[in-house]
Amino acid sequence: MAKSVKSAPPGDESSETSTSAPARPTRPTQRRLKIEGYDVEGISVAGDETCVIFPALNLAFDIGRCPPLAVSQDHLFVSHAHADHIGDLHKYVGKRRKKGMRPPTVFVPASIADLVRMLFDVHRAMDQSGFEHKLVPLEVGEEYELGKGLRVRAFKTYHVVPSQGYVIYKVKQKLKDEYAGLPGKELSSLRKSGVELTNTVSTPEIAFTGDTMSDFILDPDNADVLKAKILVVESTYIDDKKSIEDARKRGHTHLSEIASVSDKLENKAILLNHFSNRYTAEDIDAAINRLPTHFRRRVYALKEGF
Ligand SMILES: [Zn+2]
Ligand SMILES: [Zn+2]
Repeated sequence: MAKSVKSAPPGDESSETSTSAPARPTRPTQRRLKIEGYDVEGISVAGDETCVIFPALNLAFDIGRCPPLAVSQDHLFVSHAHADHIGDLHKYVGKRRKKGMRPPTVFVPASIADLVRMLFDVHRAMDQSGFEHKLVPLEVGEEYELGKGLRVRAFKTYHVVPSQGYVIYKVKQKLKDEYAGLPGKELSSLRKSGVELTNTVSTPEIAFTGDTMSDFILDPDNADVLKAKILVVESTYIDDKKSIEDARKRGHTHLSEIASVSDKLENKAILLNHFSNRYTAEDIDAAINRLPTHFRRRVYALKEGF
């Protein structure tokens, strides 16, 4: 099961200019998961809030409410416009400005980009501040270079409003097989003579679904989603209290659907999130314990808030 350790209290409030106002009560520390070498932090409660953060990659997915650690991530990927996924977008952007951080880059489904622009216009009018950010609308299948050897690609998900997930790729230059083993001198003279010695190799590291029916798993265009090292997948319902039909009616996934296609998931780790708030942490543990052992070993759960 998921290894988890308490992380240090978020320290990014420190740059706020302090006045004589009484200190705010300390926020409860969030559990930090360690999955396949990545620290992962976040809160995801269906209908309430979702934000999943990978600090090592300097990015967060969705911003239903804005946890302190999300503020320091330069890239934000929004899956869809339900309030529990986009509600604190203006706070994320505004807090970064107040802290003197650079304007963030915010990725949204292209179909909601105009609405997001209007949303910021309203916030600018109300707040009389700039809310500076770079908005990047992405169509399904479209890619964008994030820098530092990372690339993102939007993928199709199946929800009740326009939505998409994101795959983050690691991009590396790899020496072509025919040049492997050649001495450095020879390689450098080949390079000087204009020979292309390397191929670009991209490997899917993280896939984040946002809200979706399980249909995304069967979509042939989503092969890389199922190959990503870590799949962060919604699992709104987890036991008999709600059926697969209930999940589909609301555009969501039932854990039993994920389990039934577990052989299709090549991911090293599967991070379940977006559980309904009808469940307790014990219910979530019990549901995971009922999964077949060979699958359960790869399954983690974001239980913060339960
Ligand atoms: Zn949701
Ligand atoms: Zn939704």
